[in-house]
Amino acid sequence: MPPRLLLAGPICCRPGEARNLSSFDVFYLSIMPTTDGSHDKTLAALGVTRPEQLAFLFAEIRARFDSESGAVRDETAFKQFRDAWLGRKSGVLAGITDNWLKPATPELKRAVGAGLNELRAHVDAQIESRRVVIESGAEETALAKERVDLSLPGVVRPIGSRHLIRQVFQEIEDIFVSIGFSVVEGPEIETPYYNFEALNIPEFHPVRDDMDTFYLELPKSGPGPLLLRTHTSPVQIRTMEKQKPPVRVIVPGKVYRRDNPDATHSFMFHQIEGLAVDTDITFCDFTGTIEYFVKQYFGPSVKTRFRPSYFPFTEPSVEFDVSCIFCGGSGAGPGGATCGKCKGSGWIELFGAGMVDPAVYGFVNYDAKKVSGFAFGMGMDRLAMLKYGIDDIQVFFQNDVRFLKQFP
Ligand SMILES: [Zn+2]
Repeated sequence: MPPRLLLAGPICCRPGEARNLSSFDVFYLSIMPTTDGSHDKTLAALGVTRPEQLAFLFAEIRARFDSESGAVRDETAFKQFRDAWLGRKSGVLAGITDNWLKPATPELKRAVGAGLNELRAHVDAQIESRRVVIESGAEETALAKERVDLSLPGVVRPIGSRHLIRQVFQEIEDIFVSIGFSVVEGPEIETPYYNFEALNIPEFHPVRDDMDTFYLELPKSGPGPLLLRTHTSPVQIRTMEKQKPPVRVIVPGKVYRRDNPDATHSFMFHQIEGLAVDTDITFCDFTGTIEYFVKQYFGPSVKTRFRPSYFPFTEPSVEFDVSCIFCGGSGAGPGGATCGKCKGSGWIELFGAGMVDPAVYGFVNYDAKKVSGFAFGMGMDRLAMLKYGIDDIQVFFQNDVRFLKQFP
């Protein structure tokens, strides 16, 4: 048994060592289980000489009883517990009777008797109620309820997947990264300068009318007009401002135009822009890069062609077509009908592109005589729709799980 400690001024004394123990109301320290076995010793050996000291001893014994009682869960443990406290020869209560009560001084006897009676009443009542609980099997039932059945299947939490647009971007990114492009992104809120002027689209240029732009409503004292970018092309300018040639980047992102939603239009859609500028980039590099991408994305059997077109920031500008992936370029649909996807032409419009207009280099301090390059802008939603046979752009934005689940 560890020594009992009490507070005696600045130092701790062992029972019996403090000569004037009986004249103090002592604070015993309850930092150790000091009553363990205390019933086997006489009160004199425990250093108890005054009735006031008994209250602490009995309280400690009672606390120990309560804590042991709470741990009893089955019949075997209950019997051991009951004998340990009520056993005629070696039980705790018998020990208190023999060692504390019988040899007690007349001064202490009355208090010991009262404390013992109180403790016995408590012990008897508790042991009886414990017996009822154990015998009724209630404890086992409660235990069985608490038991964790590790063989039960766990809770399956549904995990989503990457959105198809995101997956398509990943595919496109992998293709371009494999040939030396890197990915850059830019702001979705732009100034007219980056969205138009620096791309060779001055104010009052008719192309601006096609873009039905969303301007932001701002206080007059604000930073000047801002708009939701109508294409990812501003990032070309921002990239060239920061970086000298060679530049090889792709720019994915959301763009905004005031289109009414239908199967092929949305006021928000996804573009992926490409830009390559270096000292010796030719039109052949341009068409070769596009052809490589298209074959990687749609498969080696598709063909590409380009037609002249017009964009303010490229010169010459072209429109790329891919041989129809639904009819294999034959223009024939099922059952001898014309292919509905390419309307019998065998070709599907893919995206616009071209050699960067030398005027654009003037905005970014590139020497138009030394550098050349190409740019392209693809609709990511359109590329996804073509490859995965989706005929309505709106399904990308409706978040219908039945649609999303098809592209895990
Ligand atoms: Zn077709």
